Amino acid sequence: MTSRLSKITAIVGAQWGDEGKGKITDFFAGDSDYVVRFHGGNNAGHTIIVDGTTFKLHLIPSGIVYGTPTSIIGNGVVVDPKALLDEIAYVKEKGINPKLMVSDRAHVIMPYHIALDGVLSGHQGNLAAGSTNRGIAPVYADKMFRNGIRMIDLLEPEVFQEKLTKGYSFAKGLMEKSLEQTLEISQEEIFNTYVDYGQQLKSYIFDTSVELYNAHKSGKSILFEGAQGISLDVDHGVYPFTTSSNTAAGHISTGTGVSFRDIDRIIGVVKAYLSRVGESPLPSEIHGDDAKSLRDKGGEYGTTTGRPRRVGWLDLVQVRQAVRVNGLTEIALTKLDVLNNFSELPVCVAYDVDGERVTEMPASLTQYRNATPIYETLPGWGDLPENIWDKGYDELPQTLRDYIDFIEREVDCPVKIVSVGPQRHETIIRK
Ligand code: GDP
Repeated sequence: MTSRLSKITAIVGAQWGDEGKGKITDFFAGDSDYVVRFHGGNNAGHTIIVDGTTFKLHLIPSGIVYGTPTSIIGNGVVVDPKALLDEIAYVKEKGINPKLMVSDRAHVIMPYHIALDGVLSGHQGNLAAGSTNRGIAPVYADKMFRNGIRMIDLLEPEVFQEKLTKGYSFAKGLMEKSLEQTLEISQEEIFNTYVDYGQQLKSYIFDTSVELYNAHKSGKSILFEGAQGISLDVDHGVYPFTTSSNTAAGHISTGTGVSFRDIDRIIGVVKAYLSRVGESPLPSEIHGDDAKSLRDKGGEYGTTTGRPRRVGWLDLVQVRQAVRVNGLTEIALTKLDVLNNFSELPVCVAYDVDGERVTEMPASLTQYRNATPIYETLPGWGDLPENIWDKGYDELPQTLRDYIDFIEREVDCPVKIVSVGPQRHETIIRK
């Protein structure tokens, strides 16, 4: 193993997701012994390009594409077994023998969760977060109701039947009595299909907390791979326009069983501007020519839908919260190349809420809706010198270094990784 990694490193999103975590994870994953997901499900997604081969993954950690690291799906992740089997088949087709472990405690997405998701999104109206309809919110809700089914249950038919009877009747009652919809699939059909999934996945199901504990004790390096971003965290994000899990680094402990005391390095990925998929107020949102330019240069169009994403200037109120809540040890600042050739760059440093200067993310939805950005405008840097990644941080234009210094001062966290292009080598590590 090279010395690029501390023993335990975490990579988390510091905005709305799509910050470029995939690229930063890719940068570290090949050197890790374990790459671990700790929250969310197949509602996440990233694209990894290795030696010219493109991998699109939603559930399995990206470490899978390197062959060496063991990929772990922690207990905090929710698993759709069919989606997992499909993804295993997908990586096998690409010539990879998956070194994969799934926590025996991870909760299982059932067909009734997916059915409920569609119905509930309609029910939530303009407070809906824009669900991916993969059953994520209902499976997490069932976990808290203690109606959940865990991976281990799929291997124990008697317990599975007992728990399924409870979970199924609850979901069916909710669908039919409260939401006036029919649940088409029968309990028997689910039972048979999921027992079969359990048999197919048996060789991947382990106590991953013990595995990671022993790995850490024997000096192995572990990389935690976050999905989405801090503003989508169900506790600290812009609720209810969030995802249904904790995206913050704090969830690594509960979502994998690895103690937070053992995490050495927490890298927050910050994109040099904003993009947002889905609803919610977005104080520093921009429209018009600047928006179009950011969107086109940054490729901010939905990967499957092709729909233009909402874009905005960098919001340091948001990043300040990401630094504090995640305990970031450093920032990886991505997509700086997308800001090339802007003559001026507004950066949101605070919100004006009814005449008051607010520097931290408000819990109040009224305040957040009324927030208008207070900008500091910094000079742009034109183009970047050719092959800047070979030259190092000190050769970056002075105005760009000033821009980075400004961010560091405002949020009180060092920027240690600078990304100026989508490819792995287009990265500058600050000494
Ligand atoms: P994630 O959701 O945070 O994992 O975001 P992705 O890894 O999907 O990144 C979004 C896109 O930005 C991908 O197409 C990346 O290749 C691209 N990307 C990442 N870093 C940079 C960068 O520094 N510059 C440019 N131009 N593109 C980047």
